[in-house]
Amino acid sequence: MTADWRAETKPCAHCGAPFGPRLGESRARWATHRYCSSTCSHHESQGPRLNLTCAQCGALFWTGDRGQRFCRRACVVQWWQNEHARQRREMRDG
Ligand SMILES: [Zn+2]
Ligand SMILES: [Zn+2]
Repeated sequence: MTADWRAETKPCAHCGAPFGPRLGESRARWATHRYCSSTCSHHESQGPRLNLTCAQCGALFWTGDRGQRFCRRACVVQWWQNEHARQRREMRDG
């Protein structure tokens, strides 16, 4: 048994990030993997994709959902915190 293949990486078919076999994954199984994460495989399996800009951090992200405005959940939270702070300021000032 050689451990060498566990050090191998290949580029994700979706985002291009290099990734290696997961813990406990067999070599044969890893060979069929094309994506670095379930998020990437999920994106690929969806229909037409859109390249959108996150309304919070400005990062580009791919989505199949035209209504999506944020690249990740942390950005949604951050945006709402900013929005609430803004509303409080407006209520106070005006
Ligand atoms: Zn990826
Ligand atoms: Zn973001």
